[in-house]
Amino acid sequence: MASKLVDRYGRAITYLRLSVTDKCNLNCFYCRSDPSKCAVEPSEARLSVEHYRQISEVAGALGISRIRLTGGEPLLRTDIVKIVEAVAGAKGIRDLSLTTNGMLLDRMAEDLAAAGLKRVNISLDSLDEENFRQITKGGCLESALTGIESALKAGLVPVKLNVVLLKGINDHEIEKFLRLTLDQDLHVRFIEYMPTTGQEGKWADYFLDLARVMEIGASIAPLKQLKGEHGGGPARYYSLEGAVGKIGLISPLSRHFCAQCNRLRVTADGKLKPCLFSEDEVDLYPALGNVQALKIKFKEAMSLRADPCIVASTPEERRGQFRGKRFMSQIGG
Ligand code: SAM
Ligand code: SF4
Repeated sequence: MASKLVDRYGRAITYLRLSVTDKCNLNCFYCRSDPSKCAVEPSEARLSVEHYRQISEVAGALGISRIRLTGGEPLLRTDIVKIVEAVAGAKGIRDLSLTTNGMLLDRMAEDLAAAGLKRVNISLDSLDEENFRQITKGGCLESALTGIESALKAGLVPVKLNVVLLKGINDHEIEKFLRLTLDQDLHVRFIEYMPTTGQEGKWADYFLDLARVMEIGASIAPLKQLKGEHGGGPARYYSLEGAVGKIGLISPLSRHFCAQCNRLRVTADGKLKPCLFSEDEVDLYPALGNVQALKIKFKEAMSLRADPCIVASTPEERRGQFRGKRFMSQIGG
């Protein structure tokens, strides 16, 4: 279906990220560096299964065809399987995925797949136990790896691994991550570290341009750029010669993709965000229960979408353009 949501700059919206909680069982330093400052939304403000169903129905009717569930850690919601069922059942939604840190995936993968989830992205910033624990402040690498296995077994494919590249922290592991794609059908996606709320003081110390990944890739084997559909997102895809898996590069700073941005976000407390990097929000809460009112709220968000032409082209200048009050765990990535 053609999108009925087109912003002032001609960008059609076809993708929605729904956050289901701002709580998390990890504290990755690039996301929730100071958990004491990440005020958790009160449970009465949290969207219910019925709310997610309504929002997804309206999104489907407005031409959105892909939805991703995110958080915080979405698997902390005890009703996550019911949320998946509700969203998967919405008319017009043909692709439903979920982003998780994988800690609880082992016991839930089968149920999520049976409820209508198509695939998962799993955050994995290190393949070294101690480094993983330090980055996530207490996370267990073994649980993440078991989560990946369970996702593959449950058919939640392709399994995409998200690696936030951090200078001096995990850049020495780039080669190990790239080599994973040689014999495993995984999409290993490197993401540039973004200077989101709470990260301002650290960003310059740890930011690394993804060009480094390409250099190391080329030293392993010839790299081929892959064309075509890889989930409708901003990743550029490559493969190493002879590899079964793929490599994705997501560069919101060094090669921003705002001109192609096709997405909206809804926070777990019901705020529609027109743009990741701005403070603007449209409150869906008063419109819940009224399809027409919800549609108007989505359209309202179109007028708040940022002009892609004003986005700075260098990471340093771009850094100064980030605005927002929410930590990444309160938005959903
Ligand atoms: N807890 C889940 C997880 O970690 O996959 C889902 C929520 S998390 C906020 C979604 C994505 O945002 C993760 O892949 C995470 O690595 C990414 N992320 C968080 N903070 C980031 C930052 N400052 N820069 C780039 N990516 C970030
Ligand atoms: Fe939690 Fe995901 Fe943020 Fe890590 S990246 S703190 S797992 S929300």
